[in-house]
Amino acid sequence: MSNPTRVLVLNSGSSSVKYQLLDMRDSSRLAAGLVERIGEQTSRLRHTCLGTGDTREHSGPIADHDAALKAVAGELSRDGLGLDSPELAAIGHRVVHGGLFFTQPTVVDDEVLTEIERLIPVAPLHNPANLTGIRTARALRPDLPQVAVFDTAFHTTMPESAARYAIDPRIADRHRIRRYGFHGTSHAYVSRETARLLGKDPSEVNVIVLHLGNGASASAVEKGRCVDTSMGLTPLEGLVMGTRSGDLDPAVIFHLARVGGMSMEEIDTLLNKRSGLFGLCGDNDMREIRRRIDEGDEDAALAFDIYIHRLKKYIGAYYAVLGTVDAVAFTAGVGENAAPVREAALTGLESLGLAVDPERNAVRGDGSRLISPESARVAVAVVPTDEELEIATQTYALVGKHN
Ligand code: ADP
Repeated sequence: MSNPTRVLVLNSGSSSVKYQLLDMRDSSRLAAGLVERIGEQTSRLRHTCLGTGDTREHSGPIADHDAALKAVAGELSRDGLGLDSPELAAIGHRVVHGGLFFTQPTVVDDEVLTEIERLIPVAPLHNPANLTGIRTARALRPDLPQVAVFDTAFHTTMPESAARYAIDPRIADRHRIRRYGFHGTSHAYVSRETARLLGKDPSEVNVIVLHLGNGASASAVEKGRCVDTSMGLTPLEGLVMGTRSGDLDPAVIFHLARVGGMSMEEIDTLLNKRSGLFGLCGDNDMREIRRRIDEGDEDAALAFDIYIHRLKKYIGAYYAVLGTVDAVAFTAGVGENAAPVREAALTGLESLGLAVDPERNAVRGDGSRLISPESARVAVAVVPTDEELEIATQTYALVGKHN
């Protein structure tokens, strides 16, 4: 029999599981879906078989991740793509926090699970759900390689000067406090794709990647290696995001506790879930914010300006970190779709060689494309991210080596 070529990618959140089944012979998608609101009465599974274009939806309680994954396996089986298929080579899992230990995608064994578990204190929201996903998938197919692909791995090349906070290193090390960065799978994929768009090898170019989704982060990628990124110990640091504040004076927290009488839980919720664009104007969707600005809404306009100001500061900072920049790449929901954000972020940076061609910027398209003027010194690109493909590619590369 020929070698198995399919990879199932699982992204297990606290109450959801997203999945895609890919065939690595041509990176095509065979099926994709999402289970939402796991553990509630109103759980929902939405499954699409991409071969037939069939979409099926089920509503009703799905008690836990085990039940969710079994339901997903059932849907895949109905399309002849079940987990028992000999064509399935591996399952690739997104794991948010790999700390310093995991610098590469890793085949899961008991030791790997223990290490991911040890990282829970620095990723209390994400790693437990990721672990549950891996354990459940392992129980369903104990013989199949399971690969963990870490959001932090791409950033482990950051030099200590960028990764360390300026606090006592003994205290920092005792509590594993340092800048880890996130969205690494996306930064890795997009920086490589940008090099490809320029007809270069990643080792020949310096790229600033701006991943602007609901969560948002920037990275400075020097010759294919990450040298700085805007998220830190947790995804809270850096850019203004949909609901996260990004950078602020740490004393704001002491002030809210001492003077505002807020508990640590309340401050955590405020900064992670009720800040950013949402906190500033009540909306975290850039489409809605632009619509409100067009209607003359001042809160929305100020939220947009604060968002852009922070973004511009990071572009300038990473320009300085890199010294020379070959390309700036916009990606994720906002970066791929919001032309006004791309234009505003680069306005006034012409002397750095950065500019957006208005006509190219206005074109909507699915693929990677350049939006800088023909003669520009620095390329500006829109590069759709594809974290599932990157996880599948890394998983398959690793499992291939083991075969
Ligand atoms: P995440 O994966 O972090 O949830 P996405 O990368 O899917 O986020 O981005 C979601 C965000 O993208 C939305 O909150 C919205 O602000 C923005 N977005 C999506 N489509 C558009 C669009 N057509 N124009 C402007 N913004 C968009």
